[in-house]
Amino acid sequence: MKTDVLNVKRTGDFYYPIHFEDGFDKLADAIMEQGLENRHFCIVTDTNVGPLYAEKVKSVLSGISSRISVFTFEAGEKNKNLNTVQSLYRFLIENKADRKSIVVALGGGVVGDLSGFGAATYLRGIEFIQVPTTLLSQVDSSVGGKTGVDFDQYKNMVGAFHQPRLVYMNMNTLKSLPGVQFACGMGEVLKTGLICDRDFYDFVCKNEKKIQELDTELLAQMIRRCCEIKAGVVERDPKEQGERALLNLGHTVGHAVEKLMDFQLLHGQCVAVGLIAAAKISLNRGLLTEEEFQQISNGCKIYGLPQHVEGLTAEAVLAATKKDKKMEQGQIKFILMDGIGHSFIDKTVSDLEMLEGIREILS
Ligand code: NAD
Ligand code: ZN
Repeated sequence: MKTDVLNVKRTGDFYYPIHFEDGFDKLADAIMEQGLENRHFCIVTDTNVGPLYAEKVKSVLSGISSRISVFTFEAGEKNKNLNTVQSLYRFLIENKADRKSIVVALGGGVVGDLSGFGAATYLRGIEFIQVPTTLLSQVDSSVGGKTGVDFDQYKNMVGAFHQPRLVYMNMNTLKSLPGVQFACGMGEVLKTGLICDRDFYDFVCKNEKKIQELDTELLAQMIRRCCEIKAGVVERDPKEQGERALLNLGHTVGHAVEKLMDFQLLHGQCVAVGLIAAAKISLNRGLLTEEEFQQISNGCKIYGLPQHVEGLTAEAVLAATKKDKKMEQGQIKFILMDGIGHSFIDKTVSDLEMLEGIREILS
C-alpha cells in the first residue's frame, strides 16, 4: 500500500500527522519524524485489542526506546469511567511516567477517549499518540481532540480537549474487527458524506463490495476523506460553537434511541436510524427528494445497518431527545439535509416534525 499522510492543524501553526498504513512497522519512523524517540511509552489498550496487537506495537517501539510499558483494561464502554482512569494514573506513577512520557492509545474509541483523558490530566497534561483499531475510531473519535469518560449513567460527561501528537492507522487491524463493529463505523462514514460531500457519499455506496472485502487501498482512501472532512470542520470550530454541530447529523434521534434501547443497539446502528429520521424530516420539508431519501436509506441497508427499531414509541423517543446535551437554551440544534452532501443547523424543528421523522424508523 502507498504510504499516505494527512496533516491536521493542532494549535497555531502546529500540525500533527495522520498516517494511513497497512502494518505497524512504520510507527517507529512516524514517531521519530516528530522527534519523540527515546521517550517512555505507555501503551494503553483493552483486553480484546491487547492480545492481538500490543506485542507487535511494543516490539516496533522497542526499536526507538528502551522504556515501554503496557496498561490493559477490560474492554467495553462500561469501563470508560473514572475508576479505570484512576488505575491508569496509578500505573503511570508506578512506572515512573514523567512529563516527557507518552501515552499510546491502542484500540477503539473507548481506549482513545480514556487514554486521551488520562494523558490530558496526568501531570497537567502529557503527550499522546492515537493508534485507532476500529473503523469508528479511525474515521471519527481519533480526530478532533475530544477526550473523556462516562460518569454514572451520563455518557462523555467528564472530559477535556487534548489533541494527539500523531495518529497512526493500520488498515489491517480492521480484519480482526467484528462485522457489526465495522458496520457501525460505516454509519459515521455515511454521515460524513451526507454532511458535506455528495461525491464521497456516492463513492462509498458504489464501492460497497471492495469496502466490505476490506481492500486496504479503498479503505485508506475512504478513511482519509472522513478524517479530512472532520479535521476541516474541527479546525474551523474547535469548541463546537457553530459548524462542528454538523457532525451530529443523525445523532439527536440516534442518541435518544441508544439510551432508550438501554445500549442494546450499538452507537453506529442508532446513528443510522437517526440519519433516516433526519432525512424524513428533511423530505417532509421539501428539502430532499423521495429519491434522495431512498438513497440515504439504501446506504444504511447495504452496509448492514438497521433502518428501523422495535419496541419504542415516537413520544418516548421525542422526550429522550430533549435530554440531549446538545440542547441550547431549551431548543434542539437539529441538523437537516437540503440535498445529499448538504446539511445545516436548524433550531426550528417542531415536535410534530420530530414525531413524523421518528415514526419513519419505528417498526
Ligand atoms: P470500542 O473501543 O468499544 O471498540 C469496539 C469493540 O471492538 C471493543 O470490544 C474492542 O475491544 C474491540 N476492538 C477494537 N479494535 C479491534 C480490532 N482491531 N479487532 C478486534 N476487536 C477490536 O468502541 P468504538 O466503536 O471504537 O468507539 C466507541 C467510543 O468512541 C464511545 O465511547 C464513544 O463515546 C467514543 N467516541 C468518541 C468520539 C470523540 O470525538 N472523542 C467520537 C465518536 C465516538
Ligand atoms: Zn457518532
